[in-house]
Amino acid sequence: MSDGFDVVVVGGGLVGASAALAIAHAGCSVGLVDRARPQPSTGDFGMDIRNIACSPASRDLLAGLGVFPGLDAVPYRRMQVWEERGTAALEFDAEEAGRAELGWILENAPTVAALWAGLERHPRVTIRLGTVTGLKCTAGQVHVALSDGAIGARLLVGADGARSVVRELLGVATTQLATGQQALATIVRTGRPHDGTALQRFLLDGPLALLPSREASASSVVWSQSPPEAERRMALADDRFCAELETAIEARLGRILAVDRRFVFPLVQHVVDDFNPRDRVLLIGDAARVLHPLAGLGANVGFEDVRDLRANLERLPAGSDPGRAGLWRTFARRRRVRARLMVAAMAGFRYAYAEGSPTLSWLRNGAVGWINGNATVKRQIIREALGLGPLAAAW
Ligand SMILES: Cc1cc2nc3c(=O)[nH]c(=O)nc-3n(C[C@H](O)[C@H](O)[C@H](O)COP(=O)(O)OP(=O)(O)OC[C@H]3O[C@@H](n4cnc5c(N)ncnc54)[C@H](O)[C@@H]3O)c2cc1C
Repeated sequence: MSDGFDVVVVGGGLVGASAALAIAHAGCSVGLVDRARPQPSTGDFGMDIRNIACSPASRDLLAGLGVFPGLDAVPYRRMQVWEERGTAALEFDAEEAGRAELGWILENAPTVAALWAGLERHPRVTIRLGTVTGLKCTAGQVHVALSDGAIGARLLVGADGARSVVRELLGVATTQLATGQQALATIVRTGRPHDGTALQRFLLDGPLALLPSREASASSVVWSQSPPEAERRMALADDRFCAELETAIEARLGRILAVDRRFVFPLVQHVVDDFNPRDRVLLIGDAARVLHPLAGLGANVGFEDVRDLRANLERLPAGSDPGRAGLWRTFARRRRVRARLMVAAMAGFRYAYAEGSPTLSWLRNGAVGWINGNATVKRQIIREALGLGPLAAAW
């Protein structure tokens, strides 16, 4: 048994790897456990199909950890949001928020690889490869059994993703919100360049997003839809799929010329009932809450967990116990309130855009038109979405 870490982080994805690095930067010794090293995952177009729209607040976190700049980040400056049924549309422009960009599109695998490179260089970090098979919390320590050995620490951070084993082993209750949808993800080449514009169209069956990629005329696609439609579109020949997508996005990028491999993800939303379910245990990232990808916020709120975690550790006097009873209750309360708000907002958005009644459609179009014409309200919405407004700062 290798004992004596201040903190063990289980899961070295976007959130766990950045948490481990932030904790080491805060002066603690860290053991990071993952079942495998991150693997490059490129599709046929040479890019990772999994992307995140990274907010300026998340960019600041990654910059503080030394991994940004250095990533092949694609700035996006504009966002267009419209719907299948309505006439009103929302257009967000970075200039309206007094910024050069709204955010950056990052490919998952290179971002995780850059975080791991930072972890491997850091003298306070030890990486252990293995699967977590058991957990035991005692008065002064958490003991983590691995497929190959064991590891112990004064604080355990579970960041092992949506199907968290840490959460399961501890029997932590979650509140589930069925989405009834799956997300089809891929990359497409388009007739016109994306020009740094993210597109989102609310279709009756679910939201469709095209995010600008590293290539000027390629965009990554996340298309939320019912499981039968996802199954049907997965089976379509490439040219038929391109034609359907071109119609669905109203050819805003011209012809859809080619499509990479297609993947389907189940879409779940859940929030744990407690982000600090035992003394000495925290859950963060997708292990704690999973959001519908329609607003591109999942990793960004996971990075918020990391910022909050680091701020708490930095406030501790040197040498104090980072797993002390009661230390994380405020953190857990704040994270849970924020998570519940976000899950409810995603469900509300989905409902508002899927609901077919003429009254709701009229109200929605009126509201969207009003927001689009009101520069002050729009500026505030943009700043909140970027993690720079007072609401985002309050959590
Ligand atoms: C289609 C789609 C589009 C999205 N778009 C966006 C977007 O635009 N913007 C955004 O912010 N978010 C987006 N998200 C969400 C975002 O991808 C996730 O919120 C984020 O990747 C979660 O990171 P994580 O580190 O918490 O979990 P994960 O990335 O799942 O990492 C979990 C890690 O834990 C390890 N692990 C798991 N089990 C064990 C075990 N038993 N023992 C040891 N290790 C283990 C895994 O190997 C992995 O490395 C999207 C999600 C989807 C599905």
